[in-house]
Amino acid sequence: MKQTAVDVVIIGAGPAGAVAAALLRKAGRSVLVLERQHFPRFSIGESLLPQSMAYLEEAGMLQAVVEAGFQYKNGAHFVYREQTSSFDFRDKHSDGWGTTYQVERAVFDEILIGCAAKQGAQVRFGHSVQAVHTGTAPRVDVIDEGGNAYQIEARFVFDASGFGRVLPRLLNLETPTGMPTRAALFSHVYDGLPAGAMDRNKICVATHPERRDVWFWMIPLAGGRSSVGCVAESSFLDVPEAEREATLRALIQKEPTLNRLIGDAPFLMPVRQIGGYSANVAHLHGPGYALLGNAGEFLDPVFSSGVTIALRSAHLAVQTLNRQLDGEQIDWSAEYDVPLRKGIDTFRAFVERWYTGELQDLIFYPNQTPSIRRMICAVLAGYAWDETNPYVASPARRLNALHEVCMQG
Ligand code: FAD
Repeated sequence: MKQTAVDVVIIGAGPAGAVAAALLRKAGRSVLVLERQHFPRFSIGESLLPQSMAYLEEAGMLQAVVEAGFQYKNGAHFVYREQTSSFDFRDKHSDGWGTTYQVERAVFDEILIGCAAKQGAQVRFGHSVQAVHTGTAPRVDVIDEGGNAYQIEARFVFDASGFGRVLPRLLNLETPTGMPTRAALFSHVYDGLPAGAMDRNKICVATHPERRDVWFWMIPLAGGRSSVGCVAESSFLDVPEAEREATLRALIQKEPTLNRLIGDAPFLMPVRQIGGYSANVAHLHGPGYALLGNAGEFLDPVFSSGVTIALRSAHLAVQTLNRQLDGEQIDWSAEYDVPLRKGIDTFRAFVERWYTGELQDLIFYPNQTPSIRRMICAVLAGYAWDETNPYVASPARRLNALHEVCMQG
């Protein structure tokens, strides 16, 4: 078994791993990214939030993303029966980017890891991490596609393995999420919509007309395609593989707006199902390692927060690790875990109230106060760590109070 040594080993070349790799290279660290698949590969999570643009910019990836020609995005459009509510992310409480993109992740992820490689990160595709010996001098056991096993010594390991959740599984870090087990059925369609049929610059989030805890996404992509999916408790979508297409088609046709836009649009790939994706861990760090992106925590797709949290975690973990590698004593709980979870908890308060229907009441409330709408809009745009926003500083309390006032008015 051969051995090599680097500053940082990163498990996984998704958005969290790629941005962490590029930022570490900027600080002059040697980086090895181990990715078990070959890119391009399909991934779900196509609607970005504007907050993520700052991290792409800092990682030197923005120009490549802009030049790729993805669908521009400036907001979110919500639909429930005859009610609609459109949020424009440029009109928000927090400073920063108000626009972003809706991306085919196979292309997007390949661009990001390509940028990291250009900046000097070593990337090995088809290499799967099997075990990690954590501690002050961590070692990583790897196997390549030829079945050759080898070991890497590193000063630190970032687990950015997404739903692979390498370290949470190996180290038994997983804890209950407190959320019901939900699933999604999804595919891409050729929507063929004429200009003006819908606002392609916004994700459309539509609530099932009879079940407020069931919702759909329609994410327009470049080239006349759209991503479409339905999210519900797992039992609602639990159908055999052969029935997935008919089930998703019937669900889409049940929701009037989606039925009008894409009721008969042909699916461009087999309908996929993913379930039980919500995850939590006891802590996001330990001796010689930190968990990034979905490898740490994943809440729910409803507010498209996954990639933003992944990039925020990469940014914060790199800042923290750079100080440690420069000789500072670091309290990873105080510097990484607590501040990262602050924003995750903001999204959690929003997600929980989405499924009870309370947040939906607020989104469709007819007499919204403009300043409060801009605060809620800022969170929907991904600015879930900006504590000048009262809906970030105390999200649960503020949302509960607002709901009470709206229900009386
Ligand atoms: P990933 O993108 O999952 O990357 C992890 C990588 O690690 C993978 O390439 C994998 O092959 C690799 N890996 C795994 N195990 C190993 C191993 N042992 N060795 C080596 N490599 C390994 N987010 C949004 O921002 N917007 C959305 O609209 C959105 N929609 C979603 C819809 C659904 C139904 C779901 C379930 C999620 C959605 N998300 C969305 C979340 C989004 O998919 C994730 O948050 C995002 O992909 C996380 O990025 P990541 O870099 O942490 O992990």
